Amino acid sequence: MNQTPQRPPELLSEASVDALLRDTTPWLSCEECFERMDAYAEAVVLGGGAAHDEAMARHLSACPACDEEARSLVELLQAG
Ligand SMILES: [Zn+2]
Repeated sequence: MNQTPQRPPELLSEASVDALLRDTTPWLSCEECFERMDAYAEAVVLGGGAAHDEAMARHLSACPACDEEARSLVELLQAG
């Protein structure tokens, strides 16, 4: 991956904020997180809330590396 983050994507849906305020115990390993990241990013881009993945959200809120990867992916999808 080699995307340059330009500006923070507007990902702070209600669900994201809610997840941030809750227990941040990672429910997924980073590997599991990466496996689901494509679908997760698509759900975020296509309308978020309805397809909210709580386990993913919790992992991302607790894992800056995956969070950054997810944001990059979302930016990529939004740009395309
Ligand atoms: Zn992770």
